[in-house]
Amino acid sequence: MITPLEQYDPQMFELLRQEAARQSGCIRLIPSENYVSKAVMAATGSCLTNKYAEGYPGKRYYEGQQITDLVESIALERAIKLFKADHANVQSHSGAVANLAAYGALASPGETIMGLALPYGGHLSHGWKVSATSKFYNSVSYEVNPETGKFDFDKIEELAKKHRPKVIITGASAYPRIIDFKTFGEIAKSVGAYHLSDIAHISGLVVAGVHPSPVPYADVVSTTTHKTLRGPRGGMLLCKKELAEAIDKAVFPGLQGGPHMHTISALAVALKEADSPEFISYAKQVVKNAKVLAESLMEKGFKLFTGGTDNHLILIDLRNKNIPGKKLAKALDRARIETNYNTIPGDPAKPFNPNGVRIGTPAITTRGMKEEQMKIVASLISRVAENIDNEEAISQIGKEALLLCSEFPVPEHFIIPKK
Ligand SMILES: *Cc1c(COP(=O)(O)O)cnc(C)c1O
Repeated sequence: MITPLEQYDPQMFELLRQEAARQSGCIRLIPSENYVSKAVMAATGSCLTNKYAEGYPGKRYYEGQQITDLVESIALERAIKLFKADHANVQSHSGAVANLAAYGALASPGETIMGLALPYGGHLSHGWKVSATSKFYNSVSYEVNPETGKFDFDKIEELAKKHRPKVIITGASAYPRIIDFKTFGEIAKSVGAYHLSDIAHISGLVVAGVHPSPVPYADVVSTTTHKTLRGPRGGMLLCKKELAEAIDKAVFPGLQGGPHMHTISALAVALKEADSPEFISYAKQVVKNAKVLAESLMEKGFKLFTGGTDNHLILIDLRNKNIPGKKLAKALDRARIETNYNTIPGDPAKPFNPNGVRIGTPAITTRGMKEEQMKIVASLISRVAENIDNEEAISQIGKEALLLCSEFPVPEHFIIPKK
């Protein structure tokens, strides 16, 4: 039991070492990813992984909850304070499960939910065809205007009046602008729908005040904990007082068994970190970096969806470059620049072969990169696109990317030394 991983399973140890080296030696631009702190990592890897704690603080189904009750209560207090919410639930194993739980609390199977369509930047779990959320519920999708990049609220209201959804979902996985949660909330109210706001991508920006919070305008707010919020992988729900019991019941026993207490302890740590002037500066820098990265890419002839960004995320529209998104994403990966291919709103291309690449600044900002480095990153991306079929050039760009990474080392807890 006490043999270190390195000795017990050298094969797995070596893979973890290689992944740590990859994360250290690569410019990570996937906008939903980040690097957690040493403190968050320590809590994630703690003995709480051994503990069953079905139920909620003070009402558990197993004994031995002296510590877990305190751990979960601290996470809840911190979440409520940070997001200025009435109630929080920190047990969802992921963002998708948090959404499914929210629907469970707000609607009955077969009733209508209405969210942003996946090819227009929405998330699978907002009722997209292949997701269980569209099998259990009748799903109606709204879109973002592909020309203006804005939500056409008259159209959305018309759609809501026609379908009378039980839940209107706001929030996105690939939207680079500020979302007007207040107007969405008014539309929901006017048709008697609940407003569920999913801020998975932007919750770190919301707590830092660099994106407006949906909390005053939504009945329920869901989020992942591992994106801009920079915590462990997981999901979280916030809601109005009146819905507290329904939300808690929908998560447990509605959808899940035992909560991941090690993750909840790590979330509590991340929430403490997010409640600090340092985190506010971080979130501000994420947005500043994204703006400079967007401007620099446009200077290099890239077309961006909506012509820029107000948040952490940029959607590159490659139709003017004649390079498929997947081809560029793969070439960038070989040049140590990690991104993901993505659909562009209004583009009929299939999600598996889309014309866009999605990038963002949360992870590289955690490494300490600033405006000056964004110009370098834009130029590396541009050179990969120009040399898309030239492996020698791509390998040279990879060396320059590695050099940039070495100037902004990842925190030491990410590096597993080679013996
Ligand atoms: C990432 C994301 C999710 C899903 O989170 P998982 O933890 O991967 O299940 C849900 N909603 C939105 C808007 C997201 O961006």
